[in-house]
Amino acid sequence: MVQYFKTIWSGIATTFTGMKITLKHLFTKKVTIQYPDENFPLPETARNRLFMEMTKCIGCKNCAKICPVNCIDIETIKVSPEDPHKELHQNGKERKLWVPTFEIDFAKCCYCGLCTEVCPTDAIIHTKEFEYSEYNRENLVYKFHTLTPEQTEEKRRLLEELDAKKEKEKKQDENKPGNKETPGEKRE
Ligand code: SF4
Ligand code: SF4
Repeated sequence: MVQYFKTIWSGIATTFTGMKITLKHLFTKKVTIQYPDENFPLPETARNRLFMEMTKCIGCKNCAKICPVNCIDIETIKVSPEDPHKELHQNGKERKLWVPTFEIDFAKCCYCGLCTEVCPTDAIIHTKEFEYSEYNRENLVYKFHTLTPEQTEEKRRLLEELDAKKEKEKKQDENKPGNKETPGEKRE
């Protein structure tokens, strides 16, 4: 019988202990927030979605080489000296490489920040944006290039023409009298 009442008393006492803790927290500062209506302020060093500033990108591919998960895909085309649309980078230097393809697959990115560390021009940076989930994985491949397919074709054609011109000049040079090797003769 004594044990019976002891158990009832223990139940009442533990209920009051729990209620005491609940009441105490009613008057302390809230630590939970109503996400997504409210957000915690992110630290300055937060590493979230990357952003590319294509006018700063020199096409060096350092970012793609260092990426541990190969989620950056870059294609470059040398700027032909005969290109009528040469452009300057933000630092005022002439662009040497066009970047017709610059894609980042955010489904693979692990936000390590290595690409931002090795970029010599700070063209690629982390932003504070982290709410960009998608239903379709393909939508997580971000395309940052600035050339249209037609412009890319034009740049390729200009470079091919330049290479063909150089090859022709080389052959003409080799066939000049004095430069031509005769059978059995070895040029130094
Ligand atoms: S943050 Fe890391 S994983 Fe993401 S693109 Fe840059 S190097 Fe690759
Ligand atoms: S490291 Fe920077 S400059 Fe070089 S390709 Fe990547 S984003 Fe462009």
